[in-house]
Amino acid sequence: MLLKAFERAGKPLKGNLHSHTKVSDGPMEPRELAAAYREKGYDFLVFTDHRKVIEDAESYGDGKFLVIRGAELHPENPYGGGMYHFVAVDLAADCDTAGRHPQEVIDRVTGAGSLVYLAHPSWSGHGRADLFPLHGYHGVEVANYGCREVDRMVSEDQWDDLNSWQGLTNGIAVDDGHRVNDIGGAWVMVNAGGNTVKEIKTALAEGRFYSSTGPEIYSVEVEAADVAKAEGTVPGTRIRVKSSPIVRAYLRSVPTHGAFIEGDETGEVEFTTRRRDLFYRVVVEDGRGRRAWSNPFVPERLFEVKT
Ligand SMILES: [Zn+2]
Ligand SMILES: [Zn+2]
Repeated sequence: MLLKAFERAGKPLKGNLHSHTKVSDGPMEPRELAAAYREKGYDFLVFTDHRKVIEDAESYGDGKFLVIRGAELHPENPYGGGMYHFVAVDLAADCDTAGRHPQEVIDRVTGAGSLVYLAHPSWSGHGRADLFPLHGYHGVEVANYGCREVDRMVSEDQWDDLNSWQGLTNGIAVDDGHRVNDIGGAWVMVNAGGNTVKEIKTALAEGRFYSSTGPEIYSVEVEAADVAKAEGTVPGTRIRVKSSPIVRAYLRSVPTHGAFIEGDETGEVEFTTRRRDLFYRVVVEDGRGRRAWSNPFVPERLFEVKT
């Protein structure tokens, strides 16, 4: 069974969910930023200026390239850590977070139909104490390209804490894009079926996407399989990955410690694992250290388990 990110529904759409224009502290005017992403072959872009919605964002797109309104919101942190950074996708109007509990901000914004993501936990220094009290958001940034220069681009450990303790959580890769050279560094590939705000939001909410800073993942296929043991076999899972050329593929899982396979030009690897983990997710890495991440999945929820 294919993970739903890779079910056939037309060409996946490439998008950046976190960006800044000169309306806050970004490098370009909204029109220039939209043009820069369009020229790089993106299908959609979300403007997420700090505390400020560009209400006519859609007018910076055209029939093919979509610009979606949004904002980065900053409620205070009542749990002791640094201020939160929430990325809100398809936010219609500015949301005043002053004096509001972060959960209230999530509830108000999602209640109005927006998607909310927890931005760059690694850069924020956020761990379980900051992340676990919150719920009802749509995912977390596994990679924030703008944070690479302080070596805090990736938040895989925080993501897996959420997957382990809070339930499966989708992971997005974004540019953030405070500087020109952040543009085009990290993105999501969304199996949306069509290039409208509604279709993109639905696909994002359902986890029908993968994230990348370079490699392409063409498919992740999961099958029930009998796995050899010392004597006989035990119920297990076979996970087949097809991607662009890679040097390594990782199977991340908890509580077992996962696995890795050396990759090659074919981009095809196959993991076999006993069925005993809370979740799995696939990561592939190319020769330049760039990665792509599947969303987490639980094999038992994908197919009926024979007992
Ligand atoms: Zn931020
Ligand atoms: Zn930002």
